[in-house]
Amino acid sequence: MSKTRHEEILSEEMFNELKPIYADANCKNCPSEWFFPAISRGKIPSGPGTNVYNAKQICSECKVQKECYNFAYKHHCIGVWGGVVFGSERKPRKRIFD
Ligand code: SF4
Repeated sequence: MSKTRHEEILSEEMFNELKPIYADANCKNCPSEWFFPAISRGKIPSGPGTNVYNAKQICSECKVQKECYNFAYKHHCIGVWGGVVFGSERKPRKRIFD
């Protein structure tokens, strides 16, 4: 059985913490590149038709959006989590979900 995108990028400890959240994830069968997009000229393209745009659409209808965001916030993840782009230059400065 192939690894999920989260298993590939997270430590075993972090993945075990994410498992209960990811069980209800809306993105399970979506392409990894939507959520871990390439940086182009120092930016992550996010307009309509881009990977980030597609990911945010999926996240907007996900029932674990808040938990996913909080996990990424806690662990300083990179990529699209909870409908938000986390990256070294775009890391949200404050928690947006309680
Ligand atoms: S909020 Fe987005 S990235 Fe997080 S589990 Fe849901 S669909 Fe996946």
